[in-house]
Amino acid sequence: MESDNNMSLDNSSHENDFAVKDKKAKKRGILFILSGPSGVGKGTLRKAIMDLGGINFSVSCTTRPPREGEIDGVDYRFLSPEEFNKRLSESLFLEHALVHDNMYGTLRKDVENVLESGEDMVLEIDVQGAFQVKSKMDCISVFILPPSVKALEYRLCKRGSDNDVKLRLKNAEYEMSHSEEFDYRIVNDSLNQAIAELKNIIINCRNMSRGL
Ligand code: 5GP
Repeated sequence: MESDNNMSLDNSSHENDFAVKDKKAKKRGILFILSGPSGVGKGTLRKAIMDLGGINFSVSCTTRPPREGEIDGVDYRFLSPEEFNKRLSESLFLEHALVHDNMYGTLRKDVENVLESGEDMVLEIDVQGAFQVKSKMDCISVFILPPSVKALEYRLCKRGSDNDVKLRLKNAEYEMSHSEEFDYRIVNDSLNQAIAELKNIIINCRNMSRGL
């Protein structure tokens, strides 16, 4: 009798274990990918969604030199090609790509740590990186489109050299030709509307993952 009771106690404690594990599993955060051509306003949109709370930005590694005002460890981790290749050879990147003649990559540990903590993560990466992540992990991908190529050119001209603008416009064509492979697409014409659309996507995904 005593052992029966123990059995049932044991069983219920196992059930509790499973319930706790299940609850923990459900609490894993959501991974969002924000992609789109350079100059489309991904950075502004990403900053604007931070006030939702519970969402973190992955600070990428890059071999590109810092622009004026950019801070190492905040905007990017600025690495020499040697430092970047060392991390690459140690398989530290979840994804990496050569974009506009520079290397960019997302550290796997950063993403895992945040998702395991139950918070959401947003990656602001190019389409090559987006497809690498999509093939490896559950994620929600969002592509940001400019209202027109002219508008994109105007935005790029404000911050880059002529050669850099040409290269980024050429790559924009390639990136936009893949926009339909993303879960959601937002046209960044009115910034406030684009922010609202992106926030709605995040809120809806959170509600769905909680079964609401
Ligand atoms: P920028 O040099 O203008 O900051 O970024 C150039 C492009 O690289 C942008 O499209 C940006 O989204 C992308 N990018 C930034 N970080 C990463 C990254 O970690 N991985 C990949 N694949 N692309 C990135």
